[in-house]
Amino acid sequence: MKFMHEPDCIFCEIVAGKRSADIVYQDPEIVAFKDAKPAAPIHILIVPRKHIATLNDISPDDNILAAVGRAAQKIALDCGVAQKGYRLFINVNKGGGQVVFHLHVHLISKAID
Ligand code: 5GP
Ligand code: ZN
Repeated sequence: MKFMHEPDCIFCEIVAGKRSADIVYQDPEIVAFKDAKPAAPIHILIVPRKHIATLNDISPDDNILAAVGRAAQKIALDCGVAQKGYRLFINVNKGGGQVVFHLHVHLISKAID
């Protein structure tokens, strides 16, 4: 197994295919799927396959956010919002509203026809 999965982590379970999700994009580093409780017409979670608990835990030599950005470009194009517009954000720790402690970037857009 290429990536170590954290026990009891729901996003590790989705990455490993052990929990169902509406997956919209995958590459060797990233899995992206629809948020179970969307806050807007388009609400995608972009998740590194590797378990990293929070943004604070990314190591200095890790380029995962570049991979997330490239994935976001493609997802936005696929969803038809690249030109209309979208928002990316990361909640960090409880004070930042983080509920799932496996790093993820929210891609949200209300800009659908
Ligand atoms: P956070 O607040 O940690 O930044 O965001 C966690 C997000 O994960 C929330 O928007 C929540 O709706 C979503 N979420 C939690 N559990 C699941 C799940 O099992 N499947 C999916 N697709 N989304 C989930
Ligand atoms: Zn995890």
